[in-house]
Parts: sequence; structure tokens; C-alpha cells
Amino acid sequence: MTATPPIISTAQPAALEYPFTAPQTDGSLVEVAPGVLWARIGMPMALSHINVWLLRGDDGWTIVDTGLSTDETRALWEHIITERLDGAPVRALVCTHFHYDHAGLASWITERFGVPLYMSLGEFLMMRMLGSQNGSVPQPEEREFYARSGMPQERVERVFAALQHDPFVPPRQAQFRRLRGGDVLTIGPRRWRVVIGEGHSPEHVCLYSAEDRLLIGGDQLLPRITSNVMVTAFEPEGNPLALWFESLDRLEACAEDTLVLPSHQSVFRGVHARLGQLREHHQQQFEQLRHLVAERGRCSAFDAMLGLYPRLRGPEQDLLALGETVAHLSWLRHRGVLEHRLEADGIIRYNVVQSAIDEEMHW
Ligand SMILES: [Zn+2]
Repeated sequence: MTATPPIISTAQPAALEYPFTAPQTDGSLVEVAPGVLWARIGMPMALSHINVWLLRGDDGWTIVDTGLSTDETRALWEHIITERLDGAPVRALVCTHFHYDHAGLASWITERFGVPLYMSLGEFLMMRMLGSQNGSVPQPEEREFYARSGMPQERVERVFAALQHDPFVPPRQAQFRRLRGGDVLTIGPRRWRVVIGEGHSPEHVCLYSAEDRLLIGGDQLLPRITSNVMVTAFEPEGNPLALWFESLDRLEACAEDTLVLPSHQSVFRGVHARLGQLREHHQQQFEQLRHLVAERGRCSAFDAMLGLYPRLRGPEQDLLALGETVAHLSWLRHRGVLEHRLEADGIIRYNVVQSAIDEEMHW
């Protein structure tokens, strides 16, 4: 067993710059660039808000992301569109990805304002698939995924109950217009190029204006929290962190002084510094996991989760933390640092590959 302690980063986080004060969640708008407005929509959860964007085109507004499907959000959109804008109509809706805080009102907005929804295929299909499964009993593969993780049965049942009673599942969206990586959306004077992110969701759309150095980053690039990257029962052998790191690499192409418009927290500059911090965060998780697994000899995903996240509260956090832990274990496994085996008690356990036990790792 190794006695080396986990590496704690001593690097000072490079300062990000926050040039604007965030709007209140009352329909106030902040213009972050000519014709680009920032509104903030409240959410009844720990993550208290989502940022949405309004882009002025020649003949009206394009909305980017919607907020959760609640009466309050619908009322706020009515207020913003009728009272706060310049009277020009809504022309289109873009959803960065399928998560309910981003696309929850897609069907309401497209119907209410008679506008098309732009989304990537992966996000649209995931939204439709999860919507059609809403309320259904857990599938045998889902039960197997949790059983193999080593999570105790009562705790798994609480996760399933929370999934079955999600109050924010959006109504069914019938149609969309497809966005692909490299597509260009021209909105008013500005050209927005689609940059696809993977890992947090299947095919997350970011929009980058190279001329104006603006990036609508969605959940791909948040200034102070790290986006959830998880393995799920759909794809238990997946390696979403590899996709996530590739996506971070794609965002390196943004100009240094790009103004990043993230879905949560505040608009910032410092894209490259933030990309570096995100990589470093995961490297610390890898080190911590490698040492934790080495110390125990053999370790289930559930045990690793308790080591990484000792203060989990409630089934939603269990769901995210387990998926995130398995994502890190999978990345280490694909990297040849860990190996895993399904044991006789039905639980998958991980161990450190002998040659990686005392090795200095360069991630
Ligand atoms: Zn998200």
C-alpha cells in the first residue's frame, strides 16, 4: 500500500473577471453586448437560478434556454417579453441541452409564441426518451447498475423514488430544428458558431461569436462550480470524462478576452484560466481516488463515493455523486490505473493496477 498522501493543489486560482452585476430574478435585463441581454430565472433548489439570454435579430428575439417548467417561470417570460423588451416578437428558441432547467419550457415557448426550437439531435432525443419514461418503474438494467455499485438497497430505493417523482419533467416537445457542430446561426449583425460539448450531456450546444468574442457557454463552462459529469445506467461502460476533456480542448480555441455567458453564476472573462482550473479539479479527484482505492485494496463505487463526498444529503445528491464517482473510476480504468471485477456478491470492485501504485502520475 502506498503512504503518499493525495496531492492538494497549492496553485492559486487565476483570477476571473466579472465585468457585470447579475440581474435580479424579477425580469430585469442586463445588456452584456449590443443586442445581447441577460435575464435570470429563479429555481426552487440549491442551485437558485439559471441565466438565459435574449439575442436581438433583425426581426425579433432569439431566446437561449428557458428555465424550469413552473407557473412562476411562465409568468416571468410573459412579463419579460411583453414589458421588458422593445415590442419586437420572439422568433426562435435555442436550448443548449436537455436538462430541465435549460429546456423545461421548450414546448410552452414554441407553442405560446409560435417559434421553432433549435437543439442538437442528441439533446432532443434524450429529452424525448426521458420524458416518455417519466413515472415508469425502474428497468432491470438500472437496478443492476446500482446493485453493482454497492449502494445499499434502501438508499437505491430512495434514488428511484426521487426519479419517479421529479416535479419538473417538461411536457412533450414534438419537433425541432437540428444544430450540429460548426453550424453558424446568424442573428442580427452577429454570427454564432455552434461548438458541441460532451460529457455533461450528450451533445451540448455552445454558441461562439469569434468577431465579438462572446461565448454562450451553457453548462460547459461555469465560473465557480464544476458541471456534473456522470456515468449512468444507460451507458455503464462509458467514459464521459474523456469526452468532457475533449470538449474543454475545443473551447481553448476561444480568444483570451472572450466574454463567457454561463448558465449559472456570473458573466466572466478568463476562459483559458477557467479551463485550466476545471482540468485541475478533475486531476485532484483522480489522485484522491487512486489513493483511496490503493489504501483499501479493493473498493466498490459506493465506498469510493463516500470517500470523495462524505457529506451527501438526500437521494438527488446520491444519484449525482455516484454517477460522478463512477465517471472518475471509469476514466482511471480506461487510463490503465485501475481495473475492476464483478465479484461473487454482485458488486463491482476496483483495485489499483500494480504498476500504477507508487507511480508519479501525469494526468
Ligand atoms: Zn446541465
